[in-house]
Amino acid sequence: MADCLFCKIANGELPAEHVYEDVDFVAFEDINPQAPTHVLVIPRRHIATLNDVGVDDRDLLGGLLDAGIRVAQKLGYAESGYRLVLNCNADAGQTVFHVHLHLLAGRIMRWPPG
Ligand code: 5GP
Ligand code: ZN
Repeated sequence: MADCLFCKIANGELPAEHVYEDVDFVAFEDINPQAPTHVLVIPRRHIATLNDVGVDDRDLLGGLLDAGIRVAQKLGYAESGYRLVLNCNADAGQTVFHVHLHLLAGRIMRWPPG
């Protein structure tokens, strides 16, 4: 999608600190980290919100989660732990309308989240 920030990061038009990529997904460091490790994992294909994920996209959602788990393991957080977060629309605080999985790690996470 022409005006989407994360599409531009995925296709290399905008810079980011990439930590993982494959044919379907890209992972890069969040510009405003909320934990010592804060990585965003996105599908290369533009999907605005979780509400726009169709029944045919189940493999894509599974792949997104799997990519987040692989990155967490690669960065050494398998045992200590990590948090994966998906925000949808205003009440959850979604600000970039291209589906993205937050990987947060490197500190104790509180519950309930803010
Ligand atoms: P949301 O609030 O939509 O769930 O998360 C969007 C995330 O994207 C935020 O954590 C924000 O810091 C991050 N972000 C916004 N703009 C940029 C950018 O230009 N580059 C990177 N790497 N992250 C961004
Ligand atoms: Zn996009």
